[in-house]
Amino acid sequence: MTKLIVATSNAGKVREMEGYLQGVGVELHLKPPELEIEETGATFQENAELKASQVAKALGEWAIADDSGLSVRALDGAPGLFSARYGATDQERIQRLLNELGDSTDRTAEFICAIAISRPNGQIALTTQGICPGEILHAPRGTGGFGYDPIFYVPDSHLTFAEMTPQQKDKISHRGRAFQQLLPQWPKLG
Ligand code: IMP
Repeated sequence: MTKLIVATSNAGKVREMEGYLQGVGVELHLKPPELEIEETGATFQENAELKASQVAKALGEWAIADDSGLSVRALDGAPGLFSARYGATDQERIQRLLNELGDSTDRTAEFICAIAISRPNGQIALTTQGICPGEILHAPRGTGGFGYDPIFYVPDSHLTFAEMTPQQKDKISHRGRAFQQLLPQWPKLG
């Protein structure tokens, strides 16, 4: 495989994946924007598989997709699959989460990222999942990153995702961990 379509319209995601996949000798391409895939799966993994498989089949090329989100224990796993749709902006999503959690003493949460790679015929060749455990703070801290980063605190690092350098975050994040698991399996992809 020399060419891999990234099943996203987000150029930022392609750049990030290029970083993780450096050295495996594959050229990443953004999927055409008119090719829209609905995320109808019941899990992150189902959504990643659905996106990779449908884009691969439509274009007759290898494709990779990821799906990720934040799961908060005291909210029964919310926002979960709806992390991106929990509010109109990052600030609204953070505020809604803080409001819903209120002064709950259980702040346990985890970020989850599933990745799937599909063969050109739509058959899934590889899936991995990375999890990063942490806690939801009472107020945002830090200015880096995106999304829920300023309220996601990692006790082992004594930092929020938004207080980490990109390198620190990539090493321990759900996405970083999912790619770390994927890389050793790369040679098995025919
Ligand atoms: P998707 O994986 O692009 O469907 O969207 C995942 C959503 O989960 C994003 O829009 C963010 O709200 C949230 N999310 C996923 N990963 C991260 C992260 O590393 N930091 C902060 N928010 C994240």
